[in-house]
Amino acid sequence: MRERDRHHLPDHDHRRLGRELALFGTDPLMGAGLPYWLPDGEVLRHTLEEYVREAERVAGYRHVHSPVLGKRELYEISGHWEHYRDDMFPPMRLGAEEVVLRPSLCPHHALVYRSRARSYRELPLRIAELGAMYRSEPSGVLGGLTRVRAVHLNDAHVFCAPGQAAAEARAALGLIRRAHADLGVRAARYRLSLPGTGGKYVADPELWRRSTALLREALDGLPYEAVEGEAAFYGPKIDVQIADAAGRESTLSTVQIDFHQPERFGLRYTGPDGAGHRPVMVHRSVIGSVERAVAHLIEAHGGAFPAWLAPVQLVVLPVAEAQADRAYALVRQAVARGLRAEVAAPDRGSLGARVRAARRAPYQAVIGAREAEGGDLVDVRLRDGRRPGRVSGDALLRRITDRVRARGPELWASP
Ligand SMILES: [Zn+2]
Repeated sequence: MRERDRHHLPDHDHRRLGRELALFGTDPLMGAGLPYWLPDGEVLRHTLEEYVREAERVAGYRHVHSPVLGKRELYEISGHWEHYRDDMFPPMRLGAEEVVLRPSLCPHHALVYRSRARSYRELPLRIAELGAMYRSEPSGVLGGLTRVRAVHLNDAHVFCAPGQAAAEARAALGLIRRAHADLGVRAARYRLSLPGTGGKYVADPELWRRSTALLREALDGLPYEAVEGEAAFYGPKIDVQIADAAGRESTLSTVQIDFHQPERFGLRYTGPDGAGHRPVMVHRSVIGSVERAVAHLIEAHGGAFPAWLAPVQLVVLPVAEAQADRAYALVRQAVARGLRAEVAAPDRGSLGARVRAARRAPYQAVIGAREAEGGDLVDVRLRDGRRPGRVSGDALLRRITDRVRARGPELWASP
């Protein structure tokens, strides 16, 4: 983006706030569409990743890790080479082989599934990975975190019997709903994305009929709208649409049902009858790509993130130099409890200016001469304007720790 254009961005635009809050940046030498993350941005990323891994673990997913490169042949088998090549980076020649930056994680997970014989007793087998994939977006559309060439996707594939697929898709929608609530993301609607016309899609009417019927079953009782031309090349999907402040819709989370790749990779499991059967792949993403998720969160919250996500959760403000030691001691205690805290020291300006500068932090603790006289007291101010008043530093840290663990929007619930 040109410097001149940046000044015309709306206040909540994630590119503007990303710069103002020092979350991420780009450099022409790293390349367009390849943002780097600064420490406060990395906190957001990492906290999101930890959140989603924990949610997946308790939902029965196992995590794997697979490489960002694969042989061209792998994507010929998956169908990406035929249907998705325009969005892929060109292959790199390596001796007699050609390797490709992966355009998706699905083929790798199909190989993980295929790495040994599977029994129906293991199904549904849920394999998750938060991994990098690459898209050769044209340079004209690149900007901020929403259109990037390196995407870090919260992805998972559930390998299951056809009779389990609708329930797995439904359970994935439940995971998505919970994540949206914890993140303060407002879902706009469910969209059932069907294929359109043209050669972009795998030509197999029976496959589309079966997978669409299963997704409709997963959506049963929920309001949704079917739209043509938005499916993946190998199957239909449910897009959980979210809306930004201006009402523009975009997709973070998706659930897809795929009969195509199990067929192409010859996936099998042994059924109760002792014979070989073909599993179904349910592809799902709870928060989508980390880049898009962070872009949306920045804009949705105007940089004032829920306490559990905030890069700085507590700012301690000594009124004068005399209280600085106490302020640093409180920050050390907060850090030791796993909280993210910092001191806004008097050399950074008047108390009013420092309070304003720290306005996006969920908690502020002011320490003046009166608080210092009272032993361990601090004067607490919340981001939403409430002033709970004087409490002990220890009580404040306990309260914040509880709120961070609860992941709710409420900053000061009764203990
Ligand atoms: Zn997939």
